Amino acid sequence: MGNRDRRAQSPPRSRARGRGKPGGRRKRKVCIFCVSPRDNIIDYKNVSLLKRFLDDDARIRKASQTGTCRKHQNRLAMAIKRSREMALLPYVPD
Ligand SMILES: [Zn+2]
Repeated sequence: MGNRDRRAQSPPRSRARGRGKPGGRRKRKVCIFCVSPRDNIIDYKNVSLLKRFLDDDARIRKASQTGTCRKHQNRLAMAIKRSREMALLPYVPD
């Protein structure tokens, strides 16, 4: 009984800590409403904030694009819709 050849494949000790994908301009994927709720109040009157979540077609950006968590994305969508009804935000792009 020879169990000598155990060390044939030792696991790699150090993990490579490289960040994955190249290609720059990607925001950190955190929900800004979770990170700093005081600075980012979801409200239909807060147009300057809501506008940041609209794309060029005046559509609400997806949570996957903005990093907003589901809970806040939902509130955001509600606020944007209400804001549109109040004519604070456009339905269509200018
Ligand atoms: Zn959140």
